[in-house]
Amino acid sequence: SYSRSMLSTMMDIPLSLTRILEYGASVHGSTTVTTWHGEGTGSEFDPAEEVTFRDIAARAAAFAHAIHDDLGITGDERVGSFMWNCAEHLEVMFGTACKGAIFAPLNKQLMNDQIRHIINHAEISAIVCDPRLAQQLGKVLVGTDSVKSVIITGAQPAQQFAHLFPRGIEVYSYEALIDGRSTVYDWPELDERTAAALCYSTGTTGAPKGVLYSHRSNVLHALMANSKDALGTSASDTMLPVVPLFHANSWGIAFSAPSMGTKLVMPGPKLDGASVYELLSTEKVTHTAGVPTVWLMLLQYMAANNVKLPDLQMVVCGGSAMPRSMIKAFLDMGTQVRHAWGMTEMSPLGTLATLKPPFSERTGEERLDILQTQGYPPFGVEMKITDDAGKELPWDGKTFGRLKVSGPAIAKAYFRVDANILDDAGFFDTGDVSTMDEHGYMRITDRSKDVIKSGGEWISSIDLENLAVGHPAVAEAAVIGVHHPKWDERPLLIVQLKQGESATREDILKYMDGKIAKWWMPDDVAFVDGIPHTATGKILKTALRDQFKDYTFPTAAA
Ligand code: AMP
Repeated sequence: SYSRSMLSTMMDIPLSLTRILEYGASVHGSTTVTTWHGEGTGSEFDPAEEVTFRDIAARAAAFAHAIHDDLGITGDERVGSFMWNCAEHLEVMFGTACKGAIFAPLNKQLMNDQIRHIINHAEISAIVCDPRLAQQLGKVLVGTDSVKSVIITGAQPAQQFAHLFPRGIEVYSYEALIDGRSTVYDWPELDERTAAALCYSTGTTGAPKGVLYSHRSNVLHALMANSKDALGTSASDTMLPVVPLFHANSWGIAFSAPSMGTKLVMPGPKLDGASVYELLSTEKVTHTAGVPTVWLMLLQYMAANNVKLPDLQMVVCGGSAMPRSMIKAFLDMGTQVRHAWGMTEMSPLGTLATLKPPFSERTGEERLDILQTQGYPPFGVEMKITDDAGKELPWDGKTFGRLKVSGPAIAKAYFRVDANILDDAGFFDTGDVSTMDEHGYMRITDRSKDVIKSGGEWISSIDLENLAVGHPAVAEAAVIGVHHPKWDERPLLIVQLKQGESATREDILKYMDGKIAKWWMPDDVAFVDGIPHTATGKILKTALRDQFKDYTFPTAAA
């Protein structure tokens, strides 16, 4: 409950995705969304297909009629999707959410068990599926009972796919289903707090957790994302979201683009370096967004083939830390970078690294220092860092603590999980550990479960890893905390050497000595053939902890 004195005399219009859809269709009606189906010419999939925001709104309306009239989708039922980024995906998203139902994009990169878990947990009624993923979805749906209908995109007859799905599931063809429907829908006036979309966050441990966005949170997030210091796009730009729709609605770009009139290029399934280059280059893309692994592949392709991207103005990069060498590579080709940090729970934008005073004039390595931070929050995200007891820590750029956030586009609970995830002041603990400086710039130093707790003080595993990979013989480094009888935990440095290189424990420790506080120095170095990673390229520390569970430090013997 809020305190209130006199009510204003301003219009009380709920914030709704319907307004974004209608704004895009009217003011930017001729702005295009181009989908690359990525199968190349000669295939049954057209290589590139262009529609407008006006078409998308009309087809979203037809889709809403179809699922209401033929599939009986009413109220807050969940409509899932199982496809790559394409125009139809936006039609399904808007058609579902503006109707008052809930759009639930599924991450096809998860294991089938996890996808099945999400479908059951969310009780999804219908799923729109790319024909190339129909076989996988058919397997996933064995052992689910909420899904009554599957709609296969494209115009192929539904019978072609029916045999792939368990008995009792009705299979439809997307184009046949929406064909001939009214392209106008009398969208309901929804309470702005109504749920609109459901995305599951996938940690490295435990079951995926559902984040249930509202119309209001998505609209406010779009307004935050649309500023020059955030996504940096305008109605004159072309955006290619490499980040998939199931990852927090393509980092909110699904709502930002029509609310700004930004032209979209949707990449379809092929996201290797050569394909992303071809897309960016052919479509003269000005802005793009994705995780570091995508940009690594792009940069490797460009270097190997000596090609350029003169139209590309900005690369938004998040999901994992953006390496310094990658930032430099883009700057050297005249492209700005925007390192961003966020979480599914935050819709997802949390911070973005732009150069504001007093840093705008910095050059060279000092410029890279700022661009490599995770940046500062836009208006609408409040942040604090605390110790384990919840005491606030200073913004001095050095002290690090648990990063906690609050804002109108941040989750206050997980979908159908009965647990309080907020502290007494209403802040959500991100599970990340970071510093904050006096200008609001945040730097991630760890995940809270990875930070090393030595004698009551914290040691940043990421800082040690970054330092160790500076040694010329080191390919990759990971640091984990291992039990120590005196200090509770001490850092163990795990190193994978570059092929054909050699270095001893002493070489590496000598290299690190003097560059960090003495008490941060790893107690030992272990050499491994390979460091395990998650599906999104994050170091899998749970696996390393398991691998070294019987390890004891030489220093622990006494
Ligand atoms: P997700 O919800 O899948 O987007 O994962 C969110 C988590 O990814 C965050 O809590 C961070 O641990 C990590 N993450 C996201 N962006 C960055 C970044 N720029 N640097 C370091 N870690 C990041």
